[in-house]
Amino acid sequence: MRIEVDWTRCDGHGLCGLLLPENLANDTDGFPVVRDPEVAPGNVHHARRAVSACPALALRLSRP
Ligand code: SF4
Repeated sequence: MRIEVDWTRCDGHGLCGLLLPENLANDTDGFPVVRDPEVAPGNVHHARRAVSACPALALRLSRP
């Protein structure tokens, strides 16, 4: 699975970097930095939680 950020929607709330630190980090303004878009099978539940928690509906989990 891949995690993707819709940059047209992201408001830099910074939640996703906290909820999915294996794949995302936050820059100094709270916007995500994609460290690795490939979500390991063991982290898919963390990725789903991050997608659900994003207040801007800016995160998507998709199959490559
Ligand atoms: S939680 Fe959503 S709005 Fe906030 S930084 Fe992450 S992608 Fe952007």
